[in-house]
Formats: sequence, C-alpha cells, structure tokens
Amino acid sequence: MRIVIIGNGIAATSAAVSIREYDMENGITMLSDEHAPFYSRPRLTEYLAGKVAFEKIVIRDETWYAKNNIELMQGVRVESVDPGHRAVTGSFGLLNYDRLLIASGASAALPSFYNSHLEHVFTLRTKEDADRIAAVAARSRTAVIIGGGLLGIETAYALAERGLEPTVIEVFDRLLPRQLDAESANMLQDMLAQKGLHFLLAQQTASLSNEYGMVKISFKDDSALSADMAVISAGIRPNISFLKNSQVEVGHGIIVDTRLRTNIPDIYAAGDCAEFKGKIYGIWPAAKEEGEIAGKVIAGQEASYHGSLMSAKLKVASIDMASVGDITIGSQTRAESRRDGSSFRKLFYENEKLKGAILIGDTTDYFKLQREIAQSAG
Ligand SMILES: Cc1cc2nc3c(=O)[nH]c(=O)nc-3n(C[C@H](O)[C@H](O)[C@H](O)COP(=O)(O)OP(=O)(O)OC[C@H]3O[C@@H](n4cnc5c(N)ncnc54)[C@H](O)[C@@H]3O)c2cc1C
Repeated sequence: MRIVIIGNGIAATSAAVSIREYDMENGITMLSDEHAPFYSRPRLTEYLAGKVAFEKIVIRDETWYAKNNIELMQGVRVESVDPGHRAVTGSFGLLNYDRLLIASGASAALPSFYNSHLEHVFTLRTKEDADRIAAVAARSRTAVIIGGGLLGIETAYALAERGLEPTVIEVFDRLLPRQLDAESANMLQDMLAQKGLHFLLAQQTASLSNEYGMVKISFKDDSALSADMAVISAGIRPNISFLKNSQVEVGHGIIVDTRLRTNIPDIYAAGDCAEFKGKIYGIWPAAKEEGEIAGKVIAGQEASYHGSLMSAKLKVASIDMASVGDITIGSQTRAESRRDGSSFRKLFYENEKLKGAILIGDTTDYFKLQREIAQSAG
C-alpha cells in the first residue's frame, strides 16, 4: 500500500509519526513545495527577528525520514488530485496512492487591496517569506503591519528587534478582539508601545501603492501613511486550489468528519486546510491533533476527532499574554476579573463551568486552565 501525504508541516508530520507507530512497512511519500525541511512555523518570527538561526527551528532533518522509511520530495507542487485514477499530479509527474492525506496547510490571506506588482509588500508564512522580508528590512527604517492579530503583533515586534520603527494597523478599535476584552487589550497595547511598537486602530485600509520608493497605505477616511515596507497579516486561506475538479468537497477548507475523512473514499485531510464542523482552527495544536488522528485512522486504528480548544499565547519577550477557549459574553456568562498592577486575569464561566480565560503578566496557569476548560467542554 502506498500512502501519499501532501504537505510537510505539523499536520503531515504528526500523521506520518502516527502511521509509523503501527506500520513500518507500507510506503509513505510526502510532497512539499517548500525547500526547507520540517520546521516550527510559529518560531518564524524569532527567525525573522534575527534571534535564532534557521537550523535551531528545524524539527525533523533528512535523517528522520530515512530512518522511518519515508520518502520526502521537497520543492514539488501538487497541481491536481484525480480520485478516479487514485493519482496526484504536479511538477513531479504522476504519483498513485492507495490512501491520500491532504495536509497542505494555508497561505496568508490577500485582501482585495493587494496586488502582486507592489514592491516591498509582503506576507509571512514560510522561511522564504521571512528571508525576503529580512532582506528589505535590512535597508528600511519604517514598516507598516496591516492586521493587529497575534501574527501581526509578533511580526511588528520582530521588525522592531531588527531596529525598524513598526506601526500596526488594525481595523477594530482594539488589538486581538477575538482573544482579549477591551481592558486587557489596552493593557497589552501599552506594554507593546513600550517595546517601540506604534498603533493605528479603527483604521480600514483602502489601497496600497508605491510612491517615491515607499509603500503608501491609504485609508477609507482619506488619510494615508507611508513606510519603507509593509507586511500584510490579515488571516489565512486554506491551500485547496489543486482540488478543483477533484470532487473532494470543500467549504472554506476541505470538509472532514470525525475520522478526518473527506467525502471521497481513502482521501483524508488535516490541519489548516481542513474544515471540521464549519471551523478552520488555524493553530498549531489543532493541526497536530488532527494529523495524529488522521494518521491513526489511515493506519487502520480506531480514533476520532471532536474538535480542539482555541488557545493563543503571544511570543514577545517579557510580555506574557495568553487567551484560552471562549471569551465571548452571552446571557449565561459570568466573568470574574482581577487586576493587580501589570497583571490581569479574567475567567469566563457558563452555567458555572469554566469556558475561557485571559491572562496578562502571569501566564503560569496557561496549561492548567487549558486542561480545566477542555474538561468542562467534555
Ligand atoms: C509566522 C507564524 C507564526 C505562527 N505562530 C503560531 C503560534 O504561536 N501558535 C499557534 O498555535 N499557531 C501559530 N501559527 C499557525 C501554525 O503555524 C499553523 O496553524 C500550522 O503550521 C498549520 O500546520 P499545517 O501542517 O496544517 O500546515 P502548514 O504548516 O501550512 O504546512 C503545509 C505545507 O504544505 C505545503 N503545500 C501547500 N500546498 C502544496 C501543494 N500544492 N503541493 C505541495 N506542497 C504544498 C506548504 O507549502 C507547507 O509546507 C503561526 C503561523 C505563522 C505563519
């Protein structure tokens, strides 16, 4: 039996590890359009900041694949999937599969004001993106980051570490609206301002252009700002375009059931490209869990997936901030908050069960709260 895996990220690799726990015999081929070996994508911002060599964020080097009887094809792109002939095709030619796992992840979302002819406008998803950003950052003084989510903030901090003056633009009137409430968002913004980050909140970008060698960001209210470079950090879009004409059912991502199966027999999906119960998690722990379970199922084991807990931790030196679970306030929600100097903790209960938490300043309870929230969710 030949197992083909599209991707070489955390979902793909977790699946390969799971398969190899039960089956060392059947061939596994992994196809990746990146040239780098499997690395920690979340640590790319540290790499961009120039704080860590790339080798330090590599998780599996070539020896691991050889030891586990896995063929890794790097720098190859899958262009189509043909379930009728059980084949994937692309820059490598044609490859037949008996079981196919799609773990192709996601790319950075590109808003309508983006066009590929713009100079010095980037997104950050891969090592190659980080290298391109770093090369231009080396001759830049100012940067604009469009999007005040976790990745936008971490990218801005990485550029500040490189000596640039970054401004984060956010369409909402506060940072991290899905992870923080207004009070904690204001606290975090003050802390980040002390690290040299600037913010423009409640500003909607209308267009981008190049003027006098700079990037000009024009806003819907007719104001504008120019910087030497810009990074767009406006969410993700699953990598699923190669499934056109394949009959694999897609919504925003590839629709999977509790066994990570798609609607087509012997085709599975996991990670940022997969949509489970209407949700694309877009976080590392969820991609890992989905990959592990998909791997077990492909290896013929009993396993099922019931969703992951949303969690986020900011990776900015000396600022501890974490958010876990659901922090929305409904009619049945009771919230308890405590502020103590630069420390803030808010717990959200529904029917007296803990459902979400925000921690700033002291995140030592992060994993404990994650467990408690996961337990209450059943
Ligand atoms: C800079 C950055 C920081 C992040 N920080 C955090 C964090 O702190 N915490 C957190 O939980 N999450 C974080 N994330 C998100 C996290 O990295 C992702 O959720 C996770 O990597 C998803 O894993 P995946 O295996 O599904 O996909 P990916 O990691 O995207 O891997 C998919 C692979 O498939 C390849 N591929 C795609 N299409 C094709 C094709 N047609 N042919 C061949 N290969 C293909 C891709 O190039 C890629 O190598 C961060 C993401 C980024 C970019």
